[in-house]
Amino acid sequence: SFQADVVPQAPEDPLFGLMAAYRKDTSPNKVDLGIGAYRDNNAKPWILPVVQKADDIIGKDPNLNHEYLPIAGLPEFTTASQKLILGADSPAIKEKRVASLQTVSGTGAVHLGALFLQRFYRPNTDRTVYFSAPTWPNHNQIFSNVHLPYATYPYFSTKTRGLDFEGMINTLKNAAEGSIILLHGCAHNPTGVDPTQDQWKEIAKVMQEKKLFPFFDCAYQGFASGDLNKDAWAVRYFVEQGFEMLIAQSYAKNFGLYGERAGCFHFVTSPAPDAANTSTRVGSQLLILQRSEISNPPAYGARIASLILNDPALFAEWEENLRTMSGRIITMRNALRSKLEELGTPGTWNHITDQIGMFSFTGLTEKQVMKLREDSHVYMTKNGRISMAGLNTHNIDYFAKAVDKAVR
Ligand code: PMP
Repeated sequence: SFQADVVPQAPEDPLFGLMAAYRKDTSPNKVDLGIGAYRDNNAKPWILPVVQKADDIIGKDPNLNHEYLPIAGLPEFTTASQKLILGADSPAIKEKRVASLQTVSGTGAVHLGALFLQRFYRPNTDRTVYFSAPTWPNHNQIFSNVHLPYATYPYFSTKTRGLDFEGMINTLKNAAEGSIILLHGCAHNPTGVDPTQDQWKEIAKVMQEKKLFPFFDCAYQGFASGDLNKDAWAVRYFVEQGFEMLIAQSYAKNFGLYGERAGCFHFVTSPAPDAANTSTRVGSQLLILQRSEISNPPAYGARIASLILNDPALFAEWEENLRTMSGRIITMRNALRSKLEELGTPGTWNHITDQIGMFSFTGLTEKQVMKLREDSHVYMTKNGRISMAGLNTHNIDYFAKAVDKAVR
């Protein structure tokens, strides 16, 4: 028999546990700042109008069926995804240095990259993966599931509530040659703190000197600043510098396609006469891994994204929708900061507007977070992270006052 009594009880996923606690709360004032999904000004999920339009077009297409996609996914989706993250005129694309597979959203892309590293990356050497401290908690699980050792580099300074740039650089300088460095392309989760362009240049320089291998996790392109190119700047800079790298791309946030699991994985080989050949070999192994893991990726979300990415008019409308989401979040950042400052809430609050993307690391302690939950029915993760999209013109006063009370 299985002897299932050896299976220990696992802890509940903290984020999904938080969601359940929120749902149970019967207070009419309750505020959900936990989950990282966009909400409109009425705290409701938002179907992007351009996604609705694409959905209608696809729904009326008489040629559509439910056949399998190829193992690598929808070809017009993966090529459009390359252009989106690398830039349409990227030399890496022209030189056929990119191997791309459609994945089960960003999580699937991170996993495929981790699995590929575990199988093929510099066997018999130190292959430690470095994560920022803190990072998206799933990074730990995904990499431990494939048995790659991991460590962390300092990232967030509790003193400035900004980037601990010195700590980060020093750790990179001391990492063993060949270490894998996981970087967030933009809108760092959970802190909302990104390096400046000058800091990225320095990071790239150190990584080149120390022969470190970049793995970019890009879950928020266009969602952070509202500008797709600006949010891809770091990735494109690393490609320009000739790095070989892995990229995980998610369309959950920027298309609002969370549950449809649309994402893409890219392996970019460095410029060399045989780069296209290398890319083909890499791609062939990735297909084998993909086949054994998921056989082929889900079709629906990729069809929607692909239609929008490949149609100039729909693409322009998408950019407008992205500005709506990022703009509302930036407005909420400004409003929260000024309300806390007006209330004279102890502490400094400039970090709320300095940070970017879905999240803000407020600096609230675990004790204050629990007090907010008990006294004011406000739900956020224990590390003081709030999902900015959970704030709106109806609850921001209430939230600011609740924070003020919890901090005093
Ligand atoms: N990486 C990071 C840093 C994220 O924040 C997320 C979304 N929470 C993901 C990857 C992947 O999400 P998904 O699998 O839903 O695309």
